[in-house]
Amino acid sequence: MTAPLTVAYFSMEVGLEPDLPTYSGGLGVLAGDTLRGAADLGVPMVAVTLVHRKGYFHQHLDTKGTQSETPAEWSPESRLEPMPQRVGVTIEGRTVLVRAWRYLVRGLLGVVPVYLLDTNLEENSEWDRRLTDTLYGGDLHYRLCQEVVLGVGGVEFLHAAGHDSVTTYHMNEGHAALLILGLLEEFAGGQVPQEVSEEAREVIRHRCVFTTHTPIPAGHDQFPAELVRGVLGEPAASLLLACDGCLDGILNMTGLALTFSRYVNGVGMRHEEISRGIFPGYPINSITNGIHALTWAAEPFRELYDRHFPEWRRDNLYLRYVINVPPGEIAVAHEACKRQLLAEVDQRTGVKLDPSALTLGFARRAAAYKRADLLFTDPDRLRRFAHTAGPLQIVFAGKAHPRDEGGKAQIRRVFEAAANLKADVRVVYLEEYDIALARLLCAGADVWLNTPLKPQEASGTSGMKAAVNGVPSLSILDGWWVEGCLEGLTGWAIGEDGGKPGDPEREAASLYDKLEHVIVPLFYDRPLAFAEVMRSTIALNGSYYNAQRMVAQYVRNAYAISAEECEGRSGREVPGIRSVSSAASCPAA
Ligand SMILES: *Cc1c(COP(=O)(O)O)cnc(C)c1O
Repeated sequence: MTAPLTVAYFSMEVGLEPDLPTYSGGLGVLAGDTLRGAADLGVPMVAVTLVHRKGYFHQHLDTKGTQSETPAEWSPESRLEPMPQRVGVTIEGRTVLVRAWRYLVRGLLGVVPVYLLDTNLEENSEWDRRLTDTLYGGDLHYRLCQEVVLGVGGVEFLHAAGHDSVTTYHMNEGHAALLILGLLEEFAGGQVPQEVSEEAREVIRHRCVFTTHTPIPAGHDQFPAELVRGVLGEPAASLLLACDGCLDGILNMTGLALTFSRYVNGVGMRHEEISRGIFPGYPINSITNGIHALTWAAEPFRELYDRHFPEWRRDNLYLRYVINVPPGEIAVAHEACKRQLLAEVDQRTGVKLDPSALTLGFARRAAAYKRADLLFTDPDRLRRFAHTAGPLQIVFAGKAHPRDEGGKAQIRRVFEAAANLKADVRVVYLEEYDIALARLLCAGADVWLNTPLKPQEASGTSGMKAAVNGVPSLSILDGWWVEGCLEGLTGWAIGEDGGKPGDPEREAASLYDKLEHVIVPLFYDRPLAFAEVMRSTIALNGSYYNAQRMVAQYVRNAYAISAEECEGRSGREVPGIRSVSSAASCPAA
C-alpha cells in the first residue's frame, strides 16, 4: 500500500462501540468491522455516517412478546471530538448547515477517522435540526433528506476537513448514493450542472465503488420523482432521475450507484449471482463479508489463541493452525463462554438454563424472511426428541424495525411457542439485541441456528462471529453459508442447495432430522467428536470469514488502481476534480 490512495467509506450506520446506538444491525456492524479491519491493516481510510442522536431505539417486550420502542438518546458532546468546520447542503431550497463529530477507530497499524454528521445547529430550523436524529426513522421524505446530508454533506465535509486526496468513494449500500450528486457538483465547480457530460460520468465512475447488501428488489431504496423534485429541486432531480439505473421516474439508489461505480460487489458468491439477475448488464463481483476477529472472539478464545500463536491478532490466518490444538482445550474455552451466556440469561430473565443441555442460539433482526419461528413448525416433534434424544434449550434475541409488523409478529410467535413448549423445551427471548449481547450469544451457544427464506439472505454475519468462537452453524444454504458450510466440519446444512425459494415444510423436516439424528447424538454421546467440529469450524471458517481477509480483498479488487489506469488518468487534466488528474492520486507503480 502506498499512502496517497485514500478511501472514503460512506455508510448510513456504523457500529463503533456497543453502547453508541449508531447502528441497527448487520449492515452497521459490518461497517464498523470494515473500519476496524482497515485500521488493523493500515489502509488509508476515512469514514462518513450520521450521528443519530436518538439512535435506532430501545426495545421493550411485554409478556406476550409485543414490542414497543423508546428513543436511545445519547450525547455526542460527552463522547466525541467536535469538528470546527460547517458545510451547507440544499434541501427543499433551504441551506441546511452540517457539522460533524469525530471518532477515531484505532487499529494495529493505523487510525481511521469517522465523521458523524450532525444538523443539530441553532442556525437550522427545528425540523432540519432533527434530520440526523433517528436511524431509519420517519417517512420516505425524512429518509431522503437524511441521504442528502450523508451523501452531499459528506463529500463537502471531507473537503472542508482537508481530506483532499480521496481516490475512492466507497458506498456501503445505496443509502450513500447521493455522494454522486456531491461529486457531480464538485466536477461542475460547485454547482449542480444542467446535464451529466460523458466526461463527468467517466471521472466519477473512476472514483466510486459500490457494495450492495440485499438480494430483495424491494429492499433497495427508492424515491418517487415528485418527492425527489421537492427535496433536491432542479436541475438535481432531473439529472439523477435520468440516470440509467432509474426506471419509471423513480430514483433508485442502487441504480444510481451502479451507474456511477467502477467496481460493484455483492457480499457473497450466491449474492453476486442473485444480484446479477436483478440488475442485468452490470458487472457485479463478490467479496464475502467478514467479521473483526479480535472484536468477536470471546476472552477464553482470545487466551487460547494467544497461548498457541499470538500472531493471530495481527494476522488472522494463524487461526488456521487451530486444527492442531487438542480438542479438549477448545471444549474448556467454550464451557467458559457458555457459563457467561447463561449467567447473563439468568440476570436478565431469572431463567436458569442448564449448562449441560444442548443450547441453540438464534439472534438477528426480527424480519419475516429470517423466520425465527421455523423451528416451531412441528412442536410435537421437537418435544418428542427433546425427551428421547436429550434436552434442548434455545436462546433468542432480535429487534424488529418499529414499522415492520411482520417482524414484530415473528417475536410474538416465538413467545407463544415458548409458552407452549415450556414443560419440554426451554425457550428464552432476550430484549435489546446489540453488539454486547451478540458477543455473548454467538460465543455461548453450542450451535448457531439460521433459517432465512432463500434467497433473501445476502450474507449473514452472526454465524461468522460464532465460528471464530468455535460454534458451528446449523443453517439454510443461503448467503455466506452456501460457501462456508462443510457438512460435519463447520456445521450442518438445512435443506438442499439451489437458488429456488425454500419450501418451509421440507426445510423444517430437514432441520429436525439434522438435530435429532446428527447433532443431538454427537453432542451428548461423543463430546470429543463435537469438540473436533468446533475446532475445524475455527480453522476453516474463523481463519477466513474475518475482516482482515475482507478488507485485503477490497484493497486488491476494489480500491487498487492499476498502473495503466494511473498513467491514463494522469495524462488528462480534469477541471474541478482535485487530485484525480495529479500523479499524487496513484500508488507508485
Ligand atoms: C452481527 C449482528 C447482526 C447481523 O447478524 P446476521 O447474522 O447477519 O443476521 C445484527 N445485529 C447485531 C447486533 C449483530 O451483532
